[in-house]
Amino acid sequence: MTDVLESSFRAASRLGRIKPSPSTAAAARVRELKAEGRRILDLTVGEPDFDTPEHIKQAAIAAIQAGETKYTPVNGTPRLRQAIRGSLLRTHDIEYSDAEIAVGGGGKQVIFLALMASVDAGDEVLIPAPYWVSYPDMVRANGGTPIIVPTKNVAGYKLRPEDLESAISERTTWLILNSPGNPSGAIYTQDELAALAEVLRRHPSVSVLSDEIYSEISFTGSPAPSLVAVAPDLRHRVLVVSGVSKSYAMTGWRLGYAAGDPTLVGAINTLQSQTSSCPSSISQAAAVAALEGPQDFIAVSVPAYAERRDVAVAGLSAIDGLTPLVPDGAFYLYVDCSGLIGRTTADGRILETDQDVTLHLLEESGVAVIQGSAYGQSPFFRISFATDLTTITLAIAAIAAAVGELR
Ligand code: PLP
Repeated sequence: MTDVLESSFRAASRLGRIKPSPSTAAAARVRELKAEGRRILDLTVGEPDFDTPEHIKQAAIAAIQAGETKYTPVNGTPRLRQAIRGSLLRTHDIEYSDAEIAVGGGGKQVIFLALMASVDAGDEVLIPAPYWVSYPDMVRANGGTPIIVPTKNVAGYKLRPEDLESAISERTTWLILNSPGNPSGAIYTQDELAALAEVLRRHPSVSVLSDEIYSEISFTGSPAPSLVAVAPDLRHRVLVVSGVSKSYAMTGWRLGYAAGDPTLVGAINTLQSQTSSCPSSISQAAAVAALEGPQDFIAVSVPAYAERRDVAVAGLSAIDGLTPLVPDGAFYLYVDCSGLIGRTTADGRILETDQDVTLHLLEESGVAVIQGSAYGQSPFFRISFATDLTTITLAIAAIAAAVGELR
């Protein structure tokens, strides 16, 4: 018999304030079920199913061969900073200096460090719902208070100026704005951003973390507009966060960046110097190729996402009880499932929450989706259409069958 050692681990109090990311947890559950031999149609994944473009891989291989395998400056190689600045000049028409650029191991790490650098106990961070799962926990982990601001269907699940105005208090330090949004796919128009900027001008102590990680994945015909491009006078109050994960199918490379106030960027760099020192030198070389090289991947992948979106929207809209929001960008569909709440499964269980709906879909149809409660807006579920059309079509048929069984 093996001895089971009792753990003497005592968790720090900050750990009690957060939970593991629900999307990571969902992915782990899918892996478990697959390992048990079940066929699972996985619509939980928040990453492109495409491979990283060849010229980007080649740039990484060349960097390895050239011995670019050492620590880099904390704020990235000069080449990478140049590529980021060039990209922001093209897309935002803003000339950032080197001192205004931070890089990190993914947009996620940069956001975490930005909050760690700026949030004190009791500081409030405004997060419009539905939101990306990680924002509230990142705020809590850093001692702040997430203030969830609900949005409405009539407003396309986007924050309206009056919602912003009434949510701001003396303790508000940040507004987190995510466009295109995960999970809604909503894109703020230039006019909507200009209206939010009007409110922000009246509240000079509020900064904006503009999460633009999906900005290239837009179905409107042009990239999603940015608050800072619409209101360049707010430049020092807007931290633009982006990265190569989603647009260039590089989630595993872990490379993100931020541009904004040089004092904040300096603080992020200080934290970076005491945590990871710098992101991978090889991923940095790859990111240069992504940002400066041919952009054909985006030209090919975005129409592919658009086609999948259309198939998924048509299929789900035809299912009684489900109403998908039609996304303008990113690769998610947020599906209103209020029509299923109160219905009964074949074995007599009443679906009371979106978690019940999600579980029913997984058990009955083998389709994995993520419950809306993870994103602060219920009853909904999120599907990712960053997967092939066959899987999407099979999944919709399976969802239709599982919904059809309900009474
Ligand atoms: N922001 C949003 C809204 C996201 O959905 C994600 C990833 O899922 C990220 C940021 C972080 O991306 P990464 O850390 O891969 O750059």
